[in-house]
Amino acid sequence: MNIVLLGPPGAGKGTQGERVAQRLGIPKLATGDVLRAAVAAKTPLGLAAKAAMERGDLVPDSVILGIMKDALAEPEKAKGVVLDGVVRTVPQAEGLERVLSELGRKVNVVLLFEVGEDELVRRLSARTTCEGCQTPYTGLEPGTACAKCGGKLVRRKDDEPAAIRQRMRAYHEQTEPVIAWYESRAKTSANGPRVVRVNALGDIEAITKTVMGELEG
Ligand code: AMP
Repeated sequence: MNIVLLGPPGAGKGTQGERVAQRLGIPKLATGDVLRAAVAAKTPLGLAAKAAMERGDLVPDSVILGIMKDALAEPEKAKGVVLDGVVRTVPQAEGLERVLSELGRKVNVVLLFEVGEDELVRRLSARTTCEGCQTPYTGLEPGTACAKCGGKLVRRKDDEPAAIRQRMRAYHEQTEPVIAWYESRAKTSANGPRVVRVNALGDIEAITKTVMGELEG
C-alpha cells in the first residue's frame, strides 16, 4: 500500500506517518528528513537545498523527483511506503504517479491532515526536534536529550517565526492545489487514490486509531 500524507506544516504528518508505517509494517519516506540529513552531512544535495529550507521555501521539484525515484526503487519499499511531505506541488504529484507506474504501483490512499492555522503556528513555535532521529517534541527546551535515541534536541531553523510564515505561504500557494488534483484523480481515473480527510486536532493515539480504521476499513 502506498500512502501519501498531505497537510500543512505542523499538522502531525511526521508523527502519524511514523506510527502508521510501524503498524502497517512498511517504511516511511520523508523528503524533509532526507534533505536535513544531506544538509548536516554537507553533501552537494544538502548544500543546494539548505538556503531554501532555512527560508521556509520549497526546494525545486527536480531535486524532490530525484530523491523519490531513488528511494522508491529500494527493495524494502516494494511492499509499500508511507510518503510524508513528499508531494508538495502538482508537478511532484504527477512525477510520483509516473515513478510508481513504472514500478507497476500507484498511490492507494491520500490522507489529508486538517488543523487550523493558529494551532499550527502554536505547535511549530513550541517544537524541538532530535538532530539524530528527527523525532519532534512539544515544549522541551533545545539541548534536552531525545527520549528515543539520546540525541540532542534542537530548534529547527525553519521553526523560527519568519520561516513558519513562509512555509504556510508555500503550503497555501503550492501544496493546496495538490488536494484538488488528487480529488480529481480519484473521480476521473480508475487508478486514482482514495482521498481521506483527517481531523488532526486532538489526542495522538486517537488520531492514529482513526487513520488505521480508514486504512483497514
Ligand atoms: P518537512 O520536514 O517536511 O517540514 O520539510 C522541511 C523542508 O524541506 C520544507 O520546508 C522544504 O524546504 C523542504 N522539503 C521537504 N519536502 C519537500 C518537497 N516535497 N518539496 C519541496 N521541498 C521540500
